[in-house]
Amino acid sequence: MGLTGRLKNYVGLVPNPISKRTREIHARTRGATATVSVCPYCAVGCSQLVYTKDERIIAIEGNYESPINGGTLCPKGAATLGLVNSPDRITTVKYRAPGGARWEEKPLDWAIERIARLVKETRDAAFEETDAEGLPVNRTLAIGHLGGATLDNEENYLIKKLFTAGLGIVAVENQARI
Ligand code: SF4
Repeated sequence: MGLTGRLKNYVGLVPNPISKRTREIHARTRGATATVSVCPYCAVGCSQLVYTKDERIIAIEGNYESPINGGTLCPKGAATLGLVNSPDRITTVKYRAPGGARWEEKPLDWAIERIARLVKETRDAAFEETDAEGLPVNRTLAIGHLGGATLDNEENYLIKKLFTAGLGIVAVENQARI
C-alpha cells in the first residue's frame, strides 16, 4: 500500500478532529457591508473599512488596500468603534446662558437651532461686501469655526464649502487637517 493509501486509512480511523463549535465559528464581519472611510483622529488619514449590518456599525478595521496604512491602525484608530457605539457617548449639550452661573442640559436639536439663528443674525449684522478700499471681499470677520478631530473628511469638505464659499466666513480651521 502506497503512502496515500496508508494516509487515507489513518484519516478514516481518526475521529474528525474539528469540533462542531469550531466549525460554526466565523468572522464577526461575515455578511456585513464594508465601506471605505478615513480614521477621524489625526492627519495621517489612515483608511478604514467600516462594517455595517442591520443599519448598525459592527466593526471598524484598517483597509489593506490603503497605501497609507496597509491594513494597520494605531491603538487610537483601532478603537474607533468605541467612538461610534459607546453607551457613554454624550447626546445632549451643556448650555450656560449669557451671564449665567450654572450649566443646563439641553437637547441637541435645541443647540443646532440656536447656533443656526445666531450665525444668521451675526452674519446679517457683520457682512462686508467691500473692504475699506472698496475692493469686493464678501466676507464676515465676526464668526469663526474650529473643527475637532472627530470630523471626517466628508464633513470637513461640507464645512469648508458652506462656511467659506457660502457664508463668507474667513476663519475656518480644523485641528485634524485630514
Ligand atoms: S489616529 Fe492612528 S489610525 Fe487614525 S489616522 Fe492617526 S495614525 Fe492612523
